[in-house]
Amino acid sequence: MTVTATIKPDLAGLLPEDAEAMLKQHFAERGQAKYRAGQVAKWLYERLASGFDEMTDLPAAEREALKEKFELSSPAVAKLSRSVDGTAKHLWRLKDGELIESVLIPTPSRLTLCISSQAGCAMACSFCATGWAGYRRQLGAGEIVSQYRGARRWARENGYGEISNIVFMGMGEPLMNPKSLFPTLAILNRGYGVGARRITVSTVGVVPGILQMAEMPEQYRLAVSLHAPNHELRQKLIPLEKKYPLPVLLDALRKFDEAGGKRITFEYVMIDGVTDLPGLAEELAGVIGEFNAFVNLIPFNPIPGTDWQPSKRARLTEFVDVLEARGIPAAVRESRGRDIAAACGQLRAEATEGRKPVQMGSI
Ligand code: SAH
Repeated sequence: MTVTATIKPDLAGLLPEDAEAMLKQHFAERGQAKYRAGQVAKWLYERLASGFDEMTDLPAAEREALKEKFELSSPAVAKLSRSVDGTAKHLWRLKDGELIESVLIPTPSRLTLCISSQAGCAMACSFCATGWAGYRRQLGAGEIVSQYRGARRWARENGYGEISNIVFMGMGEPLMNPKSLFPTLAILNRGYGVGARRITVSTVGVVPGILQMAEMPEQYRLAVSLHAPNHELRQKLIPLEKKYPLPVLLDALRKFDEAGGKRITFEYVMIDGVTDLPGLAEELAGVIGEFNAFVNLIPFNPIPGTDWQPSKRARLTEFVDVLEARGIPAAVRESRGRDIAAACGQLRAEATEGRKPVQMGSI
């Protein structure tokens, strides 16, 4: 006898129109009133229910029937860490035990949620702890969206207010998971009403994904982890540079830029004596000067296994000055949540602690 496991559709990971159609059909088959689908949609997109049992305005039998037919991804909170600066990091345990992280970053004017797109990361950038810890698996759209649902609920209940911006700057390389990322963007935008300009996809430079984003009518923001203005230096930091060398990446960005109205953010990690050497700021200005760009300079956040240090204050200021003198707006991105290992490049989830790190090439 063979047992076939039926995979239930995950309401958290369905496009809103698909969820609506499936719910309508489900209730029609059960002879239920049409408005039932709307009730579930409200629990899903507005009240952020974490399970069918919470949907208390549905009869118990209907809640049971929903459970049999659908899934509703809701990872458990394995750990919550709160920084002295207000940053809050959730460590989520997925159904199969994998751990991922999301980070809430409050500022006076916005509340940004940084979410993960993969468990671990395969990109192995030499300065990033997530890459060192290795790759585990892709996340499904429901698993990505459920970080937003869970964090938003937590933010509401803990006096943080509503999430205003979402950045794909957690664990993983979002454009290496397009099958889940692209539906996720649509779900956040059309299902939860998050404006496309308030959603930023950060990539290390996955060219096919950038080209796909250039074609999208919605103005999702793109951030590119450039980190070096030339091929030689970049390939020492980012293995993917060998596959998509700088000129090819810039070509893809030109297409994105031409699509109109989409400002590109360039991220540039400032590592003392590595990425901040004399002349690099000028070279950077030359490389990105043609774009409608903004540069975020990220002082290197120390990670285990390297003795690299963040650039000195004077170098940071000098970089900003050189870029701005060439008409390129730039800012130093203040690190948030360092004390809880929630800052850029520090996310690696606890379960990966102690696993043998990928050997770093000498640079
Ligand atoms: N894979 C995506 C998403 C990661 S976003 C990307 O590469 O863009 C996290 C940002 O933090 C990226 O710009 C990444 O390069 C940067 N980062 C990684 N490790 C860092 C570190 N130790 N210090 C500062 N920034 C780091």
